[in-house]
Amino acid sequence: MKTNRFPDIQVLKKGILAGDRIILSRAITLIESTLEEDRDLAEALLLEIYPETGKALRIGVSGVPGVGKSTFIDSFGTYLTDHGHKVAVLAIDPSSGISGGSILGDKTRMEKLSLNPDAFIRPTPSSGFLGGVARSTRESILLCEAAGFDIVLVETVGVGQSETTVHGMTDFFLLLMLAGAGDELQGIKKGIMEMADAVVINKADGNNITASKIAAAEYKAALHLFEPKENSFQTEVLLVSSHENTGMQECYTLIQSFNKQMHENGHLQHRRTQQNITWFKDAVHTDLISTFMKQENKDQYFKELEQKVEEGNILPSVAARSFMSRFFS
Ligand code: GDP
Repeated sequence: MKTNRFPDIQVLKKGILAGDRIILSRAITLIESTLEEDRDLAEALLLEIYPETGKALRIGVSGVPGVGKSTFIDSFGTYLTDHGHKVAVLAIDPSSGISGGSILGDKTRMEKLSLNPDAFIRPTPSSGFLGGVARSTRESILLCEAAGFDIVLVETVGVGQSETTVHGMTDFFLLLMLAGAGDELQGIKKGIMEMADAVVINKADGNNITASKIAAAEYKAALHLFEPKENSFQTEVLLVSSHENTGMQECYTLIQSFNKQMHENGHLQHRRTQQNITWFKDAVHTDLISTFMKQENKDQYFKELEQKVEEGNILPSVAARSFMSRFFS
């Protein structure tokens, strides 16, 4: 199977399994495409490489803009490759679809890691809604695993729905925070703190060390008030400086111990199974809605009702029932 724009499926498969990053990049471009013919090829390719997937530890990295996500990933990713790992970095940035630009993609990022032969960095998809970006990121994780990357870092901006999305596709969720920023929760909602397997306080350097230690104690106290997580892993609070490369070993030790524990108690497999079920349901919902809306100008009527809701001329629930009763008696 092939399309005009992409190599033959066997060429793609062979390149990916050989760890060829140019082919890997093209394969990711393929799975990001929404064209029907590309989707067919993408799915055929995913089926071919599926037996080689699932072997990486998938780590979500989140935190508000400016907390130091790219600097941290640059440092920590380098630490990981120095310890024999192959690291892939993917990003989910829901702002990119809205603004056309990207919070994550516009700056020169991860200077060390981008030159590292054991690392692969995929820039943020430049367009798409969160659901679409989520699908392509999930599939990109599989492609990176087949290409031999044993740690996949998925970065996201700490705003909106995207953390939940990233949490839903990773094994370990690392939340970066800052000390001394005034508001200790920094706009990070409690629900996001509750998802974290590690709260990592970055910029614990220079004059900021004391404040970072105080913040760490406060986070530890706050975390004790939360219900135990489903994986029953006790969330750790760590201090790092991505500039000075301190705390990287502690992060690594923590992630290793998490990995060991989750393998042994079967939770890793359990979580991935749950994530696959959610992925399946989300995909069906998304496809059902888009297929339904494309038929018989339903979109037109939907927009009319939406306009009325916006103008305050109709109650949202009445508009929804009116929409449904027009198409289902
Ligand atoms: P992002 O928006 O979360 O990706 O944040 P960046 O990685 O771009 O970092 C934001 C700013 O914080 C940059 O000016 C970095 O140089 C700085 N920064 C990042 N990590 C550290 C750190 O460990 N210590 C200090 N002092 N500054 C840092």
